[in-house]
Amino acid sequence: MSKIIAGNWKMNGTRQELIDMFDALENLPTNNTVILCPPYTLLNMTTPKNFSFGAQDCSTHDNGAHTGDISAKMIADTGAKYVIVGHSERRQDHNETSELIAAKAVKAIENKLIPIICVGETLAEYESGKAFDVVEDQMHKSIPAVKGEIIVAYEPVWAIGTGKVATLLDIEKMHEHIASVLGKIGRDETAILYGGSVKPGNAAEIMNVPNVGGVLVGGASLKVDDFVPIIQAV
Ligand code: PEP
Repeated sequence: MSKIIAGNWKMNGTRQELIDMFDALENLPTNNTVILCPPYTLLNMTTPKNFSFGAQDCSTHDNGAHTGDISAKMIADTGAKYVIVGHSERRQDHNETSELIAAKAVKAIENKLIPIICVGETLAEYESGKAFDVVEDQMHKSIPAVKGEIIVAYEPVWAIGTGKVATLLDIEKMHEHIASVLGKIGRDETAILYGGSVKPGNAAEIMNVPNVGGVLVGGASLKVDDFVPIIQAV
């Protein structure tokens, strides 16, 4: 079954680096859905066919006096199709709450973007056995009630950019849990991505775990030699 592979470039990337990535992605044979989320500054560039752009965040407002913010409407206007909301770096660095993230997801849906809603526990929460409860609470508060397609990304905070990957069994149990919560809120069709130190060497085994609909890739999406094999892993 085809998977979703999303690359999150975070605060990295120049025009030339994106051109180099697109040169590698052009004509790449894959049945997967590939989404690249570069900084806002690059969203106006043209993606290779069969690839889509996503943004890394959006405002809860449509427009107005909000210096430095970018609205979902503006992102949609670039031709992007997706927007990440609630990444743990936004939750931590900008004190974003799940309620705020739900408001951003509403704006995304209103503007025909698909929000990629991130959830995940910290190391302390994982070690104290609270991961299921934390993630379920984040889901209830971050997923809006409004109808419209969403994607959920499970990213254990302790696995992001650290080289530590959750075990396949942990991923399987958490994705089963997330799928069951999604079922309870009437969103059974939602794709669930895993994120956290995905690399060419582990991408296939992770994407073959039940209920894993694809991966959200940070560091490895910046390098052609890492991102291409991840896209082609399944
Ligand atoms: C991320 O930032 O969403 C992420 C998963 O990063 P990395 O792949 O570098 O761990």
